[in-house]
Amino acid sequence: MNGVQNSHAIEIHGLSFAYPDGREALRNISLNVRPREKVALVGPNGAGKSTLILQLNGMLTGTGEVRIFGENLAGADKKTIQRIRALVGLVFQDPDDQLFSPTVHDDVAFGPIYMGLEPSTVEERVNQALTAVGMPEYGPRMPHHLSGGEKRRAAIATVLSMAPEIIAADEPSAGLDPRARRGLIRLLDALPQTILVATHDLGLVRDVLPRTIIMDAGELVADGPTADILRDEALLEAHGLEMP
Ligand code: ADP
Repeated sequence: MNGVQNSHAIEIHGLSFAYPDGREALRNISLNVRPREKVALVGPNGAGKSTLILQLNGMLTGTGEVRIFGENLAGADKKTIQRIRALVGLVFQDPDDQLFSPTVHDDVAFGPIYMGLEPSTVEERVNQALTAVGMPEYGPRMPHHLSGGEKRRAAIATVLSMAPEIIAADEPSAGLDPRARRGLIRLLDALPQTILVATHDLGLVRDVLPRTIIMDAGELVADGPTADILRDEALLEAHGLEMP
């Protein structure tokens, strides 16, 4: 890795991807994200946002380049993929895909245990992650009995406990009531990591994500300061976006 590559947390160059049924979900996407940048990924349903997020840790791989802190995912060996997976935490659209243990504690401990950390470090990570999402007392609770907002925050804790450099979240505010949504906005705002959020919630975008990328039909159609993009009504309308 050289210094130039290391100046970006995420580097995507000429990325295209088609699902096995032939559906082209990403077409020639190029973008760079600097460390600690907070970026919104917006666009209509089917634009390719989720597909792009799944490329960031090699869950899906297309043609073109995806580099995480300079490391190329294309053709990466198992060890490199493991290293990249520790750098990139994905928060899935449905928190139930991330919560599968009998207790919140066990779900949040799962990643650190899998990484082979010492039991005392695992406990430290669990406490830090639950505290960061405002749920320090929730360890013994059953994930399936949590409210929608609590599930979202617990799912984020399962990612934070692995201490990733980058967090990519898919529709994190979907289905939350106003108070839970405010809590999530405060949490995302406070996180020090590089953050990429796919969302339809332009209020969240305005409040926490200073840069916005618009995707439509698998293509990147705009990339710039959120303040400029949200002011451009014609651009928003052309891609099915609406300010609340
Ligand atoms: P978004 O997250 O912006 O709503 P997606 O990344 O989910 O968009 O989808 C991009 C395109 O890929 C859509 O046309 C969608 O129908 C298609 N797609 C998504 N998942 C699959 C899949 N597993 N198999 C085939 N096509 C898919």
